[in-house]
Amino acid sequence: MAMDADLKDRIKQAVADGFDEQIAFTQKLVQNPSLRGHEHSIQDLLFRELQGRGYAMDRFKMDHAAIAAHPGGSKISEDHSDAPIVVGIHRPRSETGRSLILQSHLDVVPEGLHDMWSDPPFSGKIEGDWMYGRGAGDMKAGAAANLFALDALRRIGLQPAATVYVQSVVEEESTGNGALQTFLQGYTADAVFIPEPEEEMLVRANLGVLWFEIQVRGVPVHVREMGEGANAIDAAYRIIGAVREVEEEWNADKAGRPHFENEAHPINLNIGKIEGGDWASSVPSWCNVDCRIGIYPGVTAEKAAAEITERVRVFAEADSFLANNPPKVVFNGFYAEGYVLEEGGEAEAVLGRAHEAAIGAPMKSFMTAGYLDTRVYALYNDIPALCYGPKSRNIHGIDECVSLDSVRKITQTMALFIAEWCGTEALDG
Ligand code: ZN
Repeated sequence: MAMDADLKDRIKQAVADGFDEQIAFTQKLVQNPSLRGHEHSIQDLLFRELQGRGYAMDRFKMDHAAIAAHPGGSKISEDHSDAPIVVGIHRPRSETGRSLILQSHLDVVPEGLHDMWSDPPFSGKIEGDWMYGRGAGDMKAGAAANLFALDALRRIGLQPAATVYVQSVVEEESTGNGALQTFLQGYTADAVFIPEPEEEMLVRANLGVLWFEIQVRGVPVHVREMGEGANAIDAAYRIIGAVREVEEEWNADKAGRPHFENEAHPINLNIGKIEGGDWASSVPSWCNVDCRIGIYPGVTAEKAAAEITERVRVFAEADSFLANNPPKVVFNGFYAEGYVLEEGGEAEAVLGRAHEAAIGAPMKSFMTAGYLDTRVYALYNDIPALCYGPKSRNIHGIDECVSLDSVRKITQTMALFIAEWCGTEALDG
């Protein structure tokens, strides 16, 4: 049932009225350097914020065995975070609407070299319309929007007439195991909404992602004894070339894949980190190369991983140094399939109406080539999984920032979406 125009205006105004407070809270989140494995204090902060608003609270650890046993479970390395997952639960007096999960992740990617940033990476500095800082767009603005969209309804004496779970996870940037854990814990709803920085558009399709480390080992010798190519770092370069061939073959295989066949280069292999050797005058005996590659929806992580492992094995067999020093391929993070959001669902229609009321133009959808937690809900809960959020710049890069004007608008979209999807009732107490 569509909402009347008066209620829409009141909801939009309520978001605007709370927006200074929302900016201040977003800034507080950005100023917390919640890098992988260091998200405990920010998860506690979110716990207190939700508890202070009267939500029923749950907090739990990741179950490594259960994650490992699930087809959507990514690989758990020693770098895996042990920060807790936090869930705040709103229960209505009478459950007349459709239930909803509002999810965010509070882990952020490494900030890179600080001297390349215009301001310190966790400054939360505001300049014009932009708030700067690692995680500002991805996705602390969205995490705050989850709370403040619900606050906006309260500000006008309303609350959702259905159960709403506000879920704050970690490990989104490296495994996706946080979102999977909420599912394994038993949390589900009629839809999920994740306000990642998506340029005010809805994500229609999303690639899966694999992380792997190529480990090259060889006997160290003095440089004067160095034979042709018998150098772990040189050998690593040769293997990277072989994996680049896999990337090109997967790109060539885009035909007939809706949402991907018209992309110039849908599959990206990123050589993300390279480490090896000990110093300039010893032939390096070791080299580790950390890689990330995308996979099409419908291709399992297992199948893609087997293809990469096999290609490296075959390449090494034909290489004089590597044949005697077979490299290892270790999957150490993302092991996740992609998803496609089917067109024309009711959740999308409600979001489209909310978007139009807040932004003033029809909602667009698009394909995104990075990992998203929405895959857990789309693939395993089998519920409508909506990923939609603010405009940003340089996420995962230098001088990341988010547009505050856009954050206000998408929070309005979210509040309107919640009001129509869940329905509303008079605020408790
Ligand atoms: Zn993100």
